[in-house]
Amino acid sequence: FLEGRTALVTGSTSGIGLAIARALAAAGVRVAINGLGDAAQIDAALSSVRTAGAADARHFDADLRDPAQIAAMMQAIDAWSPLDVLVNNAGIQHTAALADMPPERWDAILAINLSSAFHTMRAALPGMATRGFGRVVNIASVHGLVASVQKAPYVAAKFGLVGMSKVAALEYAASGTRDSGGVTVNCICPGWVETPLIEPQIEARRAGGSREDGVRALLGEKQPSLRMSLPEDIAALALWLCRREAHNMTGAALPIDGAWTAQ
Ligand code: NAD
Repeated sequence: FLEGRTALVTGSTSGIGLAIARALAAAGVRVAINGLGDAAQIDAALSSVRTAGAADARHFDADLRDPAQIAAMMQAIDAWSPLDVLVNNAGIQHTAALADMPPERWDAILAINLSSAFHTMRAALPGMATRGFGRVVNIASVHGLVASVQKAPYVAAKFGLVGMSKVAALEYAASGTRDSGGVTVNCICPGWVETPLIEPQIEARRAGGSREDGVRALLGEKQPSLRMSLPEDIAALALWLCRREAHNMTGAALPIDGAWTAQ
């Protein structure tokens, strides 16, 4: 069903995005990757996606803080191949108390973690509706469902992403058919996932101990499983959401959080 379709995964030069790009590639999808990094990191991500099985993979450059660069990227991808699957995954973090949060960090987090998804969805959804098939998978967070201290912009952006995804799910609910797969929009809401994004937070809790001490302290605060997810664990759900059988799974915000939000 997914063979030969086209996907964009934002922020796929690292972490969860790279794992999702690889999972889609293994299902025969041609994958547009995007994300920051030097030439070596971008080449490594591209060859990793090709090795996973992508019929075709290309890097599309765009700094997602800039709507003009996003528009240019979406046009370039459409000229390459109309988009069937859009994964808004790029994200950054900065932890500080609200009163100490630098305003420019607020602007950057809102731009990358929330507004970029508005700009890509705005460009991609009409074509998906016309073709009767489309999948938008937005990588939100448990912080799209509950709050934590020192994360005002991140929590605001992720709650916003969950809300915007529900609006889009409603607007496109009747597009397509059960056979064509329909157009769905969902969020995945991970707890702690082992990627470079959370290293500063592990480091902050080491208290002179090992990295494992830092991980234990971090997960002990909120994630009852006391296990981090792997990027591949998140990718497996993203891939499932792209299947035809998921045509009626839309407007959902699905936690993968070791029972964090069950509390
Ligand atoms: P990561 O740091 O490994 O990857 C982030 C990606 O976003 C990279 O490819 C980076 O180049 C890209 N990016 C950052 N700024 C960009 C910009 N201005 N323009 C284009 N690309 C940009 O992080 P990750 O942990 O894989 O995070 C991926 C997503 O998952 C984020 O939205 C994050 O909020 C979310 N998330 C992560 C965790 C976790 O524990 N790691 C938990 C919940 C949600």
